[in-house]
Amino acid sequence: MQQLEVFNQGLMSFLQLGSTPAHAVQSMQKQLLDAGFIQLSEVDAWQLQAGQGYFVIRGGKSIIAWRQGLQAVEDAGIRMLGAHTDSPCLKVKPHAEIVRHGCLQLGVEVYGGALLNPWFDRDLSLAGQVQYWDQQGHLREALLDLRKPLAVIPSLAIHLNREANKGMEVNPQKHLPVVLCQAHEDDQPGIAFRKLLANWLQEEGHEVAEVVDYDLCFYDIQPPALTGLKQEYLASARLDNLLSCYVGLEALLAIDRPQEATSLLVCNDHEEVGSASAIGAEGPFLESVLRRMAGDEVAYQRMISHSLMISCDNAHALHPNFPDRHDENHGPRMNAGPVIKVNANQRYATTSETSALFAGFCKAAEVPCQRFVVRSDMGCGSTIGPITSTRLGVRVVDVGVPQWAMHSIRETVGSQDPWYLARALVVFMSAEKV
Ligand SMILES: [Zn+2]
Repeated sequence: MQQLEVFNQGLMSFLQLGSTPAHAVQSMQKQLLDAGFIQLSEVDAWQLQAGQGYFVIRGGKSIIAWRQGLQAVEDAGIRMLGAHTDSPCLKVKPHAEIVRHGCLQLGVEVYGGALLNPWFDRDLSLAGQVQYWDQQGHLREALLDLRKPLAVIPSLAIHLNREANKGMEVNPQKHLPVVLCQAHEDDQPGIAFRKLLANWLQEEGHEVAEVVDYDLCFYDIQPPALTGLKQEYLASARLDNLLSCYVGLEALLAIDRPQEATSLLVCNDHEEVGSASAIGAEGPFLESVLRRMAGDEVAYQRMISHSLMISCDNAHALHPNFPDRHDENHGPRMNAGPVIKVNANQRYATTSETSALFAGFCKAAEVPCQRFVVRSDMGCGSTIGPITSTRLGVRVVDVGVPQWAMHSIRETVGSQDPWYLARALVVFMSAEKV
């Protein structure tokens, strides 16, 4: 396992490169190829070799990677890690241009449960997938990331709304259209957004005849940083949940010699919007890969019955200005280790058995761990854990690194906790029995 400083530098560069789920998957793909993993296509038949690493990507935004164990999967079960590649953001609408009052604005749709106030007055850039016809009439797809500030959603001055500090309601339709540049109503033909996209793609060497469609989101260009007097904290966009994707990948790659059991990492898109899609955790992606690994139905059922998934998604750390938002005995602290998330109503899939197993991995890795249950008078969030458990019938423990400001454009975690979690995951991946 890498040392803490190197590990955190790797985490920060992963967070910065992963401006969209597609970019996060692209950077995982690169790391896996560099580590000797073989990319498989769902279109082909597979011949899996013991000890070899493989991965498969669906829709460009969900990925499953695994190292095949020396034993058959039905005899040893699978050690699974789960996370999600998406984060709340603002996506560009299909007919986005709005020209008014001397500005060209782009209409946006809110993806997921974003905390909207922090999106104002940020240096925003644009990234995502673009579909275009090339000069020969073929439909192609490009990944675009402009990596420079080019848009802003300005706040309204306090002088024009004296009540702003008493609670500012954000109406996404009225208040979020992004300002891209100055423009006048008679400029119309020169400012078509698809034309701008075509120019940007051509600058990157794509032979674009016409942009047909896109899946693009705005993001804050401020890079991740260590902060706090002693750099106790790490602040960044998309910590929920690219942090867990990175930690899971590092754990999988740290197992560099073949183990008896197969280790697997699944990172799904669409968690922030409920996971119901062909590439989300409620879809068939993981099950179809597992069924191919098992071969027949009996082998599949035997494999599931002694597999375990650790579903990693960040948890709410106790906020010192809002301590009453946590149960008095269950307020996770920063840098006090990964959090085991429990909910009697199955919003988390943790059972007392899987919780005890995870606590054991932490103990063996010599890292602390904490437990979270939401206040009894508040609703509880959820994650891919219960969905995967319900779909596959596999045992799951829901865990995560404690963080502040979940779903803000900039979130904060303790700078020790990702590394603690990675060490516990390595113990899990190499454990003889789970
Ligand atoms: Zn999450």
